[in-house]
Parts: sequence; structure tokens; C-alpha cells
Amino acid sequence: MLVKWKEAPTSACPRCGEPENARHVWTCKEPAVFFVWALLMSAFSKWLESVHTANDVIYWIIQRLTEWRSAEPFSRAQSDMPGLLQAIHAQDQIGWLAFLEGCIAIEWAGVQDAHFLWLGRRNTGKRWATSLVVKLLEIAWDLWDHRNQVKKHVETAQDIARRNAVMIAIRSEYAFGKSGLPKRDWRLFERPLRSILASSLHYMDAWLLRVQTARSRKERKDAEALDPSVNTAEDNLPSMNGPRRVLQQFLNSAVQPQSP
Ligand SMILES: [Zn+2]
Repeated sequence: MLVKWKEAPTSACPRCGEPENARHVWTCKEPAVFFVWALLMSAFSKWLESVHTANDVIYWIIQRLTEWRSAEPFSRAQSDMPGLLQAIHAQDQIGWLAFLEGCIAIEWAGVQDAHFLWLGRRNTGKRWATSLVVKLLEIAWDLWDHRNQVKKHVETAQDIARRNAVMIAIRSEYAFGKSGLPKRDWRLFERPLRSILASSLHYMDAWLLRVQTARSRKERKDAEALDPSVNTAEDNLPSMNGPRRVLQQFLNSAVQPQSP
């Protein structure tokens, strides 16, 4: 049974009863969530250490996330580390919800590059940043998991693995964006990434399928333009076997974005 996604932002938080949206999953004021958050930040901090993150970088990331979660004004960042203040400032502009969702300022990689050089390590800031994004995805999942357990939606390990895989695929589609797609498919990207990732698994599946379908449609059109003899009849598409077509028709009718 599909949950209409429009219901998601207005439904009550299973933990505190306040209206729930994507941000609320992080910022819920229910006391148990403070505890879960503290555990997550402690584990995150240890992980940052394990990948040779500079102490000042660890301190300011945890500090900012904690301030952001409790809606405190940001404190004045201080550090002698080259580039760190710029990185913090850049992230302040992008936002810390975005950070938690893996959208990290490029300046962080530069700060770590300098730190690795200073440590005499051959690691690169870019690789560090990549593993950071993966780690943030895990943290997001842990928090979602807590929320879902509270809601007594006990998911099997298989469901969890599937949800993770779908979220990673959606992130990568989103990173690729609407470039190259015809205008009518742009609306698939109207909804913010965090909102898509906060949806039901059904919705995420539907979104992914529609984006991937739009891309393969575009690839076929391109191939056809290059070689008119290529058979592009919809029925002959190897990737669109019977059940998938039926599923797609169902999803197209059941999960429509807000605006047509
Ligand atoms: Zn709540």
C-alpha cells in the first residue's frame, strides 16, 4: 500500500507528536532522541579520529551539528588551522542539515589535504571527504532506524539493506541531476533531495524508476538521432520487461508529484 507522500510532512512525529518533516527527524526534542543523538555524535567523533581528521575539524563539526540540532545561534568559530574558518563558513552557508545529508562544502577536503601533508600521510582530502559522506549516510540511517523502531515498524535486515541501497542510488541520480533530460522530466527533481530520502520506500522506488526510465528514454532518443535505423519501438526495449512496465504504469498513476 502506497503512502501518499504529501501526507509525510504533516503527519505527527511518532516520538514527540509534533508535526514531522525531514528536518524534524534530526531535531526532535523528545528526550530519548537527545540520548540517541549523543551516542551518534560520540561514535561519529571516534570515527573521524580513526580516519585522521584534524582535532579542530572534529571539534567544529560536532559543535556546529550540536548547535544546529538544538537551534542555538552558531558560536564564533576560532582556529589557527589554515582554511578551517572558511570551511565552517562555507558549510554555514550550505547548511548543516545539508551536511548531515552528505552535502559537504568542498573546503573541508582542502583543510584535510593540508593536515595529511603536515602529518606526512599519503591520504588525500578528497578520499577523506568521500568516506565522510558515506559515514553521514550511515548516521542518517541510524537516526531513521530509531524513529522507525519507535513507530513499531520493525523492519527486517533485508528491508534495511534495501532501503540503504535505494538511498545511495537516489543520491547518485540526484548528483547527476536533470542535465540532459527533456524539460518535462525536470519536475522529478523539483522535490528536494532530503524530502525524497525522507519518503517511504515505495515512493523512493517509484522516483528512482521514473528517473532511470527518463534517462534510458533520453539515451534511446540520442541513439536514434545518431542512427535512424536503430529500432526504438518501446516494446522492444530489453530493459523494460513485462512486469517492470506494469509496475511503472502503476507507479506513474499512483505516485504523482504535487504539480502536473
Ligand atoms: Zn519528534
